[in-house]
Amino acid sequence: MTRMAKDRVPIPPEIAAELLFASDHTCCVCRDRGRAVQIHHIDEDPANNTKENLSVLCLLCHNDTQIKGGFGRKLDANLVTQYRDDWHERVVIRRDKADELAALRLAGSVVVVPSTEPEAEALMIPADEALVTYVKTLPSVLANGYSIAQPRWDTGITVEMLEGTYELIDLVEQMLSHLASWFPENHFGGQPAPEYFSQYVATRFAWHRALAEPDGVGTGGTIVGPVASMAVLDDIQRAVDEIVCSLLWEREGFSLNAWRGEWSQAK
Ligand SMILES: [Zn+2]
Repeated sequence: MTRMAKDRVPIPPEIAAELLFASDHTCCVCRDRGRAVQIHHIDEDPANNTKENLSVLCLLCHNDTQIKGGFGRKLDANLVTQYRDDWHERVVIRRDKADELAALRLAGSVVVVPSTEPEAEALMIPADEALVTYVKTLPSVLANGYSIAQPRWDTGITVEMLEGTYELIDLVEQMLSHLASWFPENHFGGQPAPEYFSQYVATRFAWHRALAEPDGVGTGGTIVGPVASMAVLDDIQRAVDEIVCSLLWEREGFSLNAWRGEWSQAK
């Protein structure tokens, strides 16, 4: 039986943006960062743009929703929904975890201000002073992130090593989002900082994956993921350096050069 072809209705941009952010611009099935992705209609009705019906898939996994085998599709609607829900939950957990590491020192440093009412005092800290305090903590937060990743890199197991790098990338991404709060709202790309940086990281991934596979997608083997992710980590560490330079390049009582040295040593 053939289904009636239905008219494609464009996905409203805010729904697309929300979904891409929820999935961290990453395929919910293979979760391989940097693969080209598209928004898939789970029920295959291109007019049904409800959130429940949409998922982010890479082109390869999307093909698996089309292939019919002996027992039906390799990836049927139920399975895609499960993968999606599970992945979105994981993305939230990863972000929270990274955010806790990135922001912990910020909260801690604010409480250090001597006062009988730390909370009231904290609110009165000028934004500029809080910025310097936060920036000064970043090299040790990064070094801490590296010490958490090191045991995973030492396993020599590709999947483990990748996870270690991904966590570090998440951590630095959260730093960027925090630093963006010293810029006007929606300063970057006219969108909230976490969305902007999620997209930024995805773009860097796509770039480095493409460079790692000059002969075409899939020709680079299993080393492509680890190579690309280390390059992305480098890129976003540089982005932190750039954003700090932009915010603090002429700040009295703050040595930008000394900080940059510490930051580059932290890895
Ligand atoms: Zn995929």
